[in-house]
Amino acid sequence: MSWFDTVELGPPIEVFLMNKLYNDDNYPNKVSLGVGAYRTNEGKPWVLPVVRTAEQALANDESLNKEYLPVLGLESFTIAATKMLLGPNNSAVIDNRAFGIQCLSGTGSLRVGAEFLNRILGKKIFYYSNPTWENHKLVFRNAGFEEGREYRYWCPKTRGLDIHGMLEDLRNAPEGSVIILHSCAHNPTGCDPTPEQWDKIGEVMKERRLFPFFDSAYQGFASGDLDKDAAAVRSFADKGFELFCAQSFAKNFGLYNERVGNLTVVLNNLDLVQKVKSQLTLLIRGMYSNPPSHGARIISYVLNNKDLYNQWRDNIRTMSSRIKEMRKMLRDNLERLGTPGDWRHITQQIGMFSYTGLNELQSENMVKKHHVYMLKSGRISMCGVTPSNVEYVAKAIHETVT
Ligand code: PLP
Repeated sequence: MSWFDTVELGPPIEVFLMNKLYNDDNYPNKVSLGVGAYRTNEGKPWVLPVVRTAEQALANDESLNKEYLPVLGLESFTIAATKMLLGPNNSAVIDNRAFGIQCLSGTGSLRVGAEFLNRILGKKIFYYSNPTWENHKLVFRNAGFEEGREYRYWCPKTRGLDIHGMLEDLRNAPEGSVIILHSCAHNPTGCDPTPEQWDKIGEVMKERRLFPFFDSAYQGFASGDLDKDAAAVRSFADKGFELFCAQSFAKNFGLYNERVGNLTVVLNNLDLVQKVKSQLTLLIRGMYSNPPSHGARIISYVLNNKDLYNQWRDNIRTMSSRIKEMRKMLRDNLERLGTPGDWRHITQQIGMFSYTGLNELQSENMVKKHHVYMLKSGRISMCGVTPSNVEYVAKAIHETVT
């Protein structure tokens, strides 16, 4: 007899299951397009050169020690990360109405923000796009939100954004609802609103008094340009919104396992800053007390050094250009094969993922018959596509849809 006899087996997390199946597979031409992590043209993980440089400098800096960080994290990191997101000339930054809290990567930033909103705003509803990154629902529910609702986002017919559906769903959202918005490189669809569409989304959210919670997991990684990828968040801040933004440094710094994130908070009243900070301090103190330092020191070192910052921007461009190149090669291959359907969306989508349009059965066929590991939603990580496997992947898609 165990205390835990009544515990039931939980369902597997699809993306990690795919990874395990891929690792266990002995097929020589197997391809991993599940997990969203950058790979080089040779299909290898990449530690950014600028990260290596920073790590060497930090290892030799004898003034650093292993004392606890403050509960809200390393200030030189949170200040630099907040400026990177909002831009140094943003009025919220200049007026000190914006600040950052170092959290455990993007997921931890979302969780801390959701915990805070749930406690402070009371029983509110959170809204997520249909489809969205699977974890949004789990994070918000575990943070205590009882009700989550979808807003329309992806239109399978046009393989683009259903802006009318989205706006209608936002118009019908109860006042005070928390709206999760992907700031760029929407996961899984790779399809973002245009600046004009963002303006409309902002108008409706203002009118309906909805709270924007941006998820910024791909700044710089998406277009290769840090400012462009932050434009939506900046425009909301410029319009006078109070907002949260969960910034991840997993992809743009390649620091997946260091778990460095920043919860950016923009308030409209300077007097509230200390109060909100004090409540976030109590919340974090009761969860994990304070964050780890290694990754935050690396990022702080790079963001606060002009030369290294420029090198980092080059590293980001290397990653985003390779992905764009692979999008082009995949589309070219499919078009050359005469694969039925329209494949323009492969190059129109942006960021790490492509929403191929393959249905569940077809995606399963890709895994079972061709050993191309992908999610059943039809999402593939473009990072797993390389010059050596792109032809194989295209042929597998061709065989699957014909
Ligand atoms: N949000 C989105 C949309 C993501 O795609 C991811 C990672 O895949 C994250 C947040 C969080 O990632 P992490 O917690 O590794 O920073």
